[in-house]
Amino acid sequence: VELPIHEAVLGRAAEFGDTPALVDGTNGTTLTYAQLDVFHRRVAAGLAEAGVAKGDVLALHSPNTIAFPTAFYAATRAGATVTTVHPLATPEEFAKQLGDSASRWIVTVSPLLETARRAAELAGGVEEIFVCDNAPGHRSLLDMLGSTAPEPAIDIDPVEDVAALPYSSGTTGIPKGVMLTHRQLATNLAQLSPALAVGPGDRILAVLPFFHIYGLTALMNGPLRNGATVVVLPRFDLETFLAAIQNHRITGLYVAPPIVLALAKHPLVTQYDLSTLRYIISAAAPLDAKLAEACSQRLNLPPVGQAYGMTELSPGTHVVPLAAMRHAPPGTVGRLIAGTEMRIVSLDDPDKDVGVGEDGEILIRGPQVMKGYLGRPDATAAMIDTDGWLHTGDVGHTDAGGWLFVVDRVKELIKYKGFQVAPAELEALLLTHPGIADAAVIGVYNDDGNEVPHAYVVRGPTATDLSEGEVMMYVAERVAPYKRVRQVTFIDGVPRAASGKILRRRLKELQ
Ligand code: ATP
Ligand code: MG
Repeated sequence: VELPIHEAVLGRAAEFGDTPALVDGTNGTTLTYAQLDVFHRRVAAGLAEAGVAKGDVLALHSPNTIAFPTAFYAATRAGATVTTVHPLATPEEFAKQLGDSASRWIVTVSPLLETARRAAELAGGVEEIFVCDNAPGHRSLLDMLGSTAPEPAIDIDPVEDVAALPYSSGTTGIPKGVMLTHRQLATNLAQLSPALAVGPGDRILAVLPFFHIYGLTALMNGPLRNGATVVVLPRFDLETFLAAIQNHRITGLYVAPPIVLALAKHPLVTQYDLSTLRYIISAAAPLDAKLAEACSQRLNLPPVGQAYGMTELSPGTHVVPLAAMRHAPPGTVGRLIAGTEMRIVSLDDPDKDVGVGEDGEILIRGPQVMKGYLGRPDATAAMIDTDGWLHTGDVGHTDAGGWLFVVDRVKELIKYKGFQVAPAELEALLLTHPGIADAAVIGVYNDDGNEVPHAYVVRGPTATDLSEGEVMMYVAERVAPYKRVRQVTFIDGVPRAASGKILRRRLKELQ
């Protein structure tokens, strides 16, 4: 069956009826499935009445709120393509996305209205700015709930029509608009759902942003498709996060490695009752097996499971199924999901497949591969070859049992005298030092013209006297000589994207 994404997600909403679909983690305001179902239809009618038409791009600019999903599904039901925007984007950044995506409409929230107005002015082409809450002079989605206009009868072609236009994280360059059709999103959701086994009675904490494809899928589309309750937090703050797990009796967490790090190391964690948690899944960036283990042992949970994907893959291809968490090998990002093919090819000879246990570039083919980058046919062709294989740019290998291990990105490998060093491996090792709170590694060229690992280290609260020499020694004692960290700089915090990834280019700018 080919369904538009809002139907694929909300097809059973009426059946889930009075079950809470979304709960505001700060004030407890609740939206039931029945309300979500009716509300998104009314808002779709309101948007259509306001002029939103099939094929229009609508920019959704909001932190996580309980209204976010209503706005999203209303827009797709009205036939629009939703481009999700980072709520902390500057007017200039937002304007770039508006221009690149040719957005005609904006949905924002009143605290962000000035940014949205400024961005719309800079970009041009925006017809109207709607708000989810209330702001003088702007039509509100709340008012649309009272719309008596008929539900728009839009003919959506799930195979061709683009439902979402998320931008990639911009870790390696300029964020690119990724065209994901209704079918790509709906198919991937169906592919991932059996492994995640989230259903009625589960309470999921949505702290990673909905605007990024990981949050959109794991925290919004997935749980709402399956009748779970999503408790929403607008931003990550450790105390609020821990209190929300305790107070809302959260059963499952989808997080990124920095949150696993906090759960494993931060002293505050033990002050909360987190005993309702049944599992933690981490994705979006490399997670070290030791760190994952420290986290699960501390919380008395099954090993932290991982998932792997990218915006261009709608977004998932691998996950450790909940049922397999206890016996999956440490460090794996999971097993290939149904209906998807993978090859791992040699970094030296891309025509050659590598053997079990050997590292190479991960290629993916399947129904979740994006339609393309918006307006960038060359970038699309560079990513997806003529046989339909998407070249992920990630290095990894499988074991004999078919479990995938992601090492790092091809572009971020440091080439030291012909050897390859993965920054992620050194970062994981640095984090095992009790005095190191956080760390990031990049390759820099030293005076002899060799690319060498340079570590940026955040000292822990009790390690104010930790020295550069001690850091280098700690690594040197534990790795082969070619992997040694040769330079160390202490910093206050590691720059990261909203999806938790280390922004190594920001560190390169410090050089
Ligand atoms: P850009 O493409 O704009 O540079 P990005 O690649 O960071 O940014 P995303 O689509 O958000 O944008 O991230 C996908 C990438 O995240 C993958 O290519 C991979 O490098 C990384 N990733 C995702 N899941 C995992 C995981 N479980 N382990 C290691 N890396 C992961
Ligand atoms: Mg990428």
